[in-house]
Amino acid sequence: MSSANLQKYLQEYFSMPFDVRKELHDGNECYFSSPSNEGDMLFEVNAYIQNEIRIVLEIRPQIHARAMLESISGADNEKKTKFINFLNSLRSKRVSVDLQINGRPINDEELKSCTWNNFYCRLTRVPITDSSEPCDLFDVISEWTKQAVCLFLCLLPVSDQDEQTGELEGSQYQVVCNKYERSPINRELCLAKNGYTCRICGFDFEKTYGSIGQRFIHVHHIVPVSMIGSNYQINPEKDLIPVCPNCHAMLHRKKPPFLPDEIMNILEKRK
Ligand SMILES: [Zn+2]
Ligand SMILES: [Zn+2]
Repeated sequence: MSSANLQKYLQEYFSMPFDVRKELHDGNECYFSSPSNEGDMLFEVNAYIQNEIRIVLEIRPQIHARAMLESISGADNEKKTKFINFLNSLRSKRVSVDLQINGRPINDEELKSCTWNNFYCRLTRVPITDSSEPCDLFDVISEWTKQAVCLFLCLLPVSDQDEQTGELEGSQYQVVCNKYERSPINRELCLAKNGYTCRICGFDFEKTYGSIGQRFIHVHHIVPVSMIGSNYQINPEKDLIPVCPNCHAMLHRKKPPFLPDEIMNILEKRK
């Protein structure tokens, strides 16, 4: 597996530049990925597979560590809550989390109040995949590196992607994707809670297409954008739902979008 593939995957997913390199440590192929936001090297995620059964991710501050630690310490409650929710979503996926701040383990309450002078975070998961099919090294490394990056981006003032109208790749229709749907962190929080099955029609890509359908789904923001004030704090677990591309396109057939129940009723009546 090449580091260039991982770099391409991360850059596309997060829409920001990444440095990725591969090195051999203690006989393990390690992938070091570091996101850079507007040129700042923020932190580095080192991902490797140990003894073929365990994926290990070590997250460490990078060159611009001081600025990063300052923004973490100054992060608002919403960001810190998101971080804690994300940690819990990882734990619910059987990831064991070793998070040390200022040289010692810390609980959720302290997490919100303490000033971060340094940190070390190690995520471990056994087994490396839940699938019964033989797993692809790239899938495992890219998926868990993505999760580790998301976790720390929760805390940082990374510019949210702007609301924009875009044509979805390879599709015939136009969908208005708002920034909540496009935010990788919101997406991961939604999917950790809601899974990968279409909330409207029940379609499950992995069931139908096998391993290439694994973790494929769109994420839709229910609350019409027009109803959101500037102070609205999105709850990715409730305000976002997984939907298949067909149902997603139908939701956006009008502006503001249909409500999920409306499309479900249409489907129900036509059965
Ligand atoms: Zn659907
Ligand atoms: Zn949508």
